[in-house]
Amino acid sequence: MNRRDILKAFMALGVTAPVVHANSEDDMDIELDLTKREWRKILDDDAAFRVLFKEGTERPWTSEFNKEKRPGTYICKACYQPLFDASMKFESGTGWPSFFDTLEGAVETKRDFKLILPRTEYHCSRCGGHQGHVFDDGPQPTGKRYCNNGIALEFVPEGQELPSLRNAA
Ligand SMILES: [Zn+2]
Repeated sequence: MNRRDILKAFMALGVTAPVVHANSEDDMDIELDLTKREWRKILDDDAAFRVLFKEGTERPWTSEFNKEKRPGTYICKACYQPLFDASMKFESGTGWPSFFDTLEGAVETKRDFKLILPRTEYHCSRCGGHQGHVFDDGPQPTGKRYCNNGIALEFVPEGQELPSLRNAA
């Protein structure tokens, strides 16, 4: 084998090396993957649909949950996955129900460039329904403020049974 042959051999190796495809980070890996049209049929509430599946924002001080103080669980209005325990709620003074933490694995985040300053959007990890934005000015122990659209949630008071997770019709 001369030098040229060795070079050729290396080149061949390079060409046949396996190609690794990186997973796109934009792909939401969600369990209940319905189209907007399907969700439109399931959700009878126009305003809730706009927030959950068109990333709308409800007007501040409009949610009944601003005043809700009972123990219980906040669940995703679209698929019923539990997102927050009531013990994670705090009074932020913003006019939106606010939480300093989420139940484990309940939400996923992505960057949102709708305003000039990028914000971190978060959504239900099960159905992808938009819930709100998370900021770094929350109380301890997390320092996070999950600013949630009340209309994207349902509240289940303690002692009441959680509804079973919604599945495709
Ligand atoms: Zn959901």
